[in-house]
Amino acid sequence: MAVPKRRVSKARRDKRRSNVWKLEAPTLEKCTKCGAYKRPHRVCPECGYYNGRQVIDVDKKDA
Ligand SMILES: [Zn+2]
Repeated sequence: MAVPKRRVSKARRDKRRSNVWKLEAPTLEKCTKCGAYKRPHRVCPECGYYNGRQVIDVDKKDA
């Protein structure tokens, strides 16, 4: 970081500013139906509910 400007290549500088190395946990929300954590604005993977109604069929093969 604290190094003469020209010593850092454009590739190195731009890679540092890019998002390739930034890890971020996805935002999680609790499903209103089953309480499982899910991503907001996505159908719940546990019960298949979204916006108070069943949207997809969930096969509980491993349950
Ligand atoms: Zn759910």
